[in-house]
Amino acid sequence: MAKSKVIAVSNQKGGVGKTSVTLNLGIGLARNGYKVLMIDNDYQANLTASLGYTSPDELEYTLCEIIEDVIEEKENGKKGILTHSEGVDLVPSNITLATVELKLIEVIGRETLLRRYIDGIKSGYDYIIIDCSPSLGMMTVNALTAADSVLIPVQAAYLPVKGLQDLIRTIGKVKRQLNPKLDFEGILITMVNSRTNYAREIIERLHEEYGEKIKVFNTFIPRSVKQEESSVVGKSIYKYANSSKVAKAYKEVTDEICGKEVF
Ligand code: ADP
Ligand code: MG
Repeated sequence: MAKSKVIAVSNQKGGVGKTSVTLNLGIGLARNGYKVLMIDNDYQANLTASLGYTSPDELEYTLCEIIEDVIEEKENGKKGILTHSEGVDLVPSNITLATVELKLIEVIGRETLLRRYIDGIKSGYDYIIIDCSPSLGMMTVNALTAADSVLIPVQAAYLPVKGLQDLIRTIGKVKRQLNPKLDFEGILITMVNSRTNYAREIIERLHEEYGEKIKVFNTFIPRSVKQEESSVVGKSIYKYANSSKVAKAYKEVTDEICGKEVF
């Protein structure tokens, strides 16, 4: 692949599956033969911890320090990037990222810090996947400004129209003012309970509401205890339970996003 693609995984609601989607999409793409970097853009550091780095606060050079170096116009190349045993790279995060947003108020070009960092390292990657925090704050704006597309995980339990409208409005503003190339990767329904029929209904309603503008993935991610367990042990769903339904769903979504089936 000649050019790398940057995908932001975003929804300002917490607990909708952003981190799980980032991890399994990232490792899925790596299993399909691509060079992948994941960026943990959340001070809660769930992505970092779910990849097995269980004490993120002990890491000394994380996204916070990277952003501080970009502010100082220091180029540090690939410093701080961790290499995971499942074939992906990670820019980790920890609690220090919470302090960065406050500092950004006085920074020139504060929306483009992450883009400038990614521009410096992206030639080494086919895909860069950014796990966003549950907010529409400045670091999420940075992710949207750096991204080619946004993937929006939505939890199947109810139809969060209001929240989605706020997110879509923010994406529209970033696209108009900062990043004209920004596109929707699509809406992905997660945590579908197999004992209810919500999912189909929700997919239909999302199609009616947003289908003209935004793709809604036909594949949805089932609710699965295996998924929860896999993040606790620091493995992807492919490594933890490769024959599970949830692994199959993630493979389908991965193949759809990269347009390739290799697994
Ligand atoms: P977010 O990043 O949006 O906050 P997470 O990916 O961290 O969401 O998921 C929230 C919680 O739900 C985590 O404990 C995670 O292990 C669990 N989870 C995620 N996807 C699934 C799933 N498909 N089935 C069951 N639990 C899930
Ligand atoms: Mg998360």
